[in-house]
Amino acid sequence: MRLEETTCLLCGNPAQCATVDEGNRTYCECSNPRCGNYEVSRAAQKEIEGRDSMREELSEKAVQCKRSGEILRVAVGSDGNLMAACAAHPRQ
Ligand SMILES: [Zn+2]
Repeated sequence: MRLEETTCLLCGNPAQCATVDEGNRTYCECSNPRCGNYEVSRAAQKEIEGRDSMREELSEKAVQCKRSGEILRVAVGSDGNLMAACAAHPRQ
């Protein structure tokens, strides 16, 4: 995985991100201690763009996942709703 210096999709702080799963998902490691590491699908990324309250909520979830050594995985379910849950760290 090749991480690139960019800004966090959730909180806007500096983060290191990489495109994974043949471009279908973005994995990020955020430098903000109040944020976390996460993976966002392309569809979910569209959903959260421009929706500050949703990004804030996801950022809070990401820090909770980080405390248990996990990442936050965000995707759009078959019902069209955003799903966010902690998942095993891809590097572990
Ligand atoms: Zn962040």
